[in-house]
Amino acid sequence: MAAGGQRGPRVRARAGTRGRSRAARRPPPGDGPRAGTFPTGEVLATLAREAPGWGAPVVAFMGRAGADPFRILVSCLLSLRTRDQVTAAASASLFRRARTPRGLLRLDEDALAALIRPVGFYRTKARTLREVSRLLLERHAGRVPRDLDALLALPGVGRKTANLVVTQAFGDPGICVDTHVHRIPNRWGLLATRTPEESEDALRRLVEPAWWVDLNPLLVAFGQTICQPVSPRCSTCPVAPACARVGVVHSR
Ligand code: SF4
Repeated sequence: MAAGGQRGPRVRARAGTRGRSRAARRPPPGDGPRAGTFPTGEVLATLAREAPGWGAPVVAFMGRAGADPFRILVSCLLSLRTRDQVTAAASASLFRRARTPRGLLRLDEDALAALIRPVGFYRTKARTLREVSRLLLERHAGRVPRDLDALLALPGVGRKTANLVVTQAFGDPGICVDTHVHRIPNRWGLLATRTPEESEDALRRLVEPAWWVDLNPLLVAFGQTICQPVSPRCSTCPVAPACARVGVVHSR
């Protein structure tokens, strides 16, 4: 996916300033201190080149839109307040028994809760999964809709989940902002946002659409292995020369 021969992050591009008049230089809400000078495309290309060496399972999703929409939707609903490994195990155990909304509804709530039990709030999530499956059958002939608003109308589905489905299942443009996608561009100085919603708005302005689909798996993999929430591994980070390390107190 990374374009061969692209230069590394040391090259400073003037991305984001083109077309702005002198009078319009006041930064839009959400822009970080380096939004006008941060070499976003080069940093993302560097990460994409390095990602296969990190050993993060999520890298497998990059460049591979077309995954089963129901599987992505269910896994994302299971992942709330749950570690990635636990979500993966629970999803695998559930999908061995049910791969469609109709199949999932054949499991009663207790059986479903027992299958997903390692995940947090498993009883509430079992109820939500049954309700989502019922609505998919009732409103969408058992298929996961491709439309963001239709996804957002399902119980338990927020912007993160809806964007993940449209990008990873359908390959449509969208930016799925989870904790990693919110944290990392703020550390870079590209964003200065307080909420994932603000980050999504700003990233839609500041990142080329060609990167949107892969932005989530790329930054999730980077955040799990190098730019970790506590004590990121800055000494071995391939994009350290470009990073402002905003808010980083301890690093390795
Ligand atoms: S230098 Fe450190 S804080 Fe910045 S992106 Fe790399 S690991 Fe994250």
